[in-house]
Amino acid sequence: MNSARMSVARRSSALALGGLIVGALVLVATLTGCAVHPAGSPSTDPASPTDDGTVPPGTTVFDDDVAAVSRLNAQLRDALRAASTAAQADGVEVRINSGWRSTALQERLLRDAVETYGSPAEAARWVATPETSPHVSGDAVDVGPWEAAEWLGRHGAPYGLCQIYINEAWHFELRTEAPTQGCPRMYLDPTEDPRMAPR
Ligand SMILES: [Zn+2]
Repeated sequence: MNSARMSVARRSSALALGGLIVGALVLVATLTGCAVHPAGSPSTDPASPTDDGTVPPGTTVFDDDVAAVSRLNAQLRDALRAASTAAQADGVEVRINSGWRSTALQERLLRDAVETYGSPAEAARWVATPETSPHVSGDAVDVGPWEAAEWLGRHGAPYGLCQIYINEAWHFELRTEAPTQGCPRMYLDPTEDPRMAPR
C-alpha cells in the first residue's frame, strides 16, 4: 500500500471511529427515549411496550418474550444462542441492543438520524429505511457491550455470525457460508451495501 492510500485509510478509520462514537450515543439516546413513558400519558401504548421492537436494557437472545428477539430469523437466533453460550464460558455476556424492528420504529430511528446528522444522505450511513433495513426483516442484531461485539467479531464466523459494516462493530448478520469460508469482506458503511440502494 503506498503512503497516499495509507493516509486515506487512516483518515477513513479515524472518521469511522468518530462516527461510530456519535452513532452509538445517538442509538443509546434514541432507544432510551423510546423506552421512557411519561407518567400519566394517555393510554395509546400498544399491548406491550416492546411490541414495536424496542429492547429493554439487559435483554439477551434468550429473552423470547421480547419481540425484537422472538421475531428474529430463527436461524440467526439459534446461531446467536450458540455463540452467546460460548461467550458466556469466556466470561462475556452478549446483550441484544436491537434486533427485529417494526416499520414504525425504523421510521422513527431514521427521522431522528436525519435530524441528528443534518441530511438524509449522511443519515443513510447509519440508519436504513424500513424497506432496506435488515433489522425490519429480522435478519440483523446490534450487540453490546463493547466486549461482546469484540468477542463476536473474533469468534462469530464459526457460528455464521459476521460483522457487515466497518463503521458498525456491533451489527451482526447471519452468513451461512462463514463457518467454512469465513466472513465476507466488510463494507465501509451501509452506503456501500448494494442492498441499501433505494428501491
Ligand atoms: Zn444494526
